[in-house]
Amino acid sequence: MKNTMGHGTKKVGPARGLGPRYGSTVRKRWIKIIRELRKPHACPQCGLLRVKRESIGVWKCRKCGFTFSGGAYTPTTKLGIVAKRVAKGAPAEEAAKTEEAD
Ligand SMILES: [Zn+2]
Repeated sequence: MKNTMGHGTKKVGPARGLGPRYGSTVRKRWIKIIRELRKPHACPQCGLLRVKRESIGVWKCRKCGFTFSGGAYTPTTKLGIVAKRVAKGAPAEEAAKTEEAD
C-alpha cells in the first residue's frame, strides 16, 4: 500500500463520478449505463453511428445534425427505463453532468 494520503482507494473508471457512498449494485448499473452512454448510437434519420448525447434526454447526430429526445442515458427506451430507475434512487443526473461530455 503506497497511496495512503487519507483519500482511501481512488477508483479510476466510469464510476469515479459516483463516489463510494452508492452501493455496488447501483455502481455496476451505473457503469453499464455510462458504457451505453458513451457508445456511439445509430441515428434514426441517417442510420450512422454518430449520435451523441447533447444533454439529459437530448441526442444529436454528428453526421446529419438530427436532434431528438430519448432516454436520459440512451437514445433507445429499453435501457432508458433502467436508467430512469437508477436516477430515481440516486442523483445520477448530476453525476452525468460532471462526466465529460465530449
Ligand atoms: Zn444522422
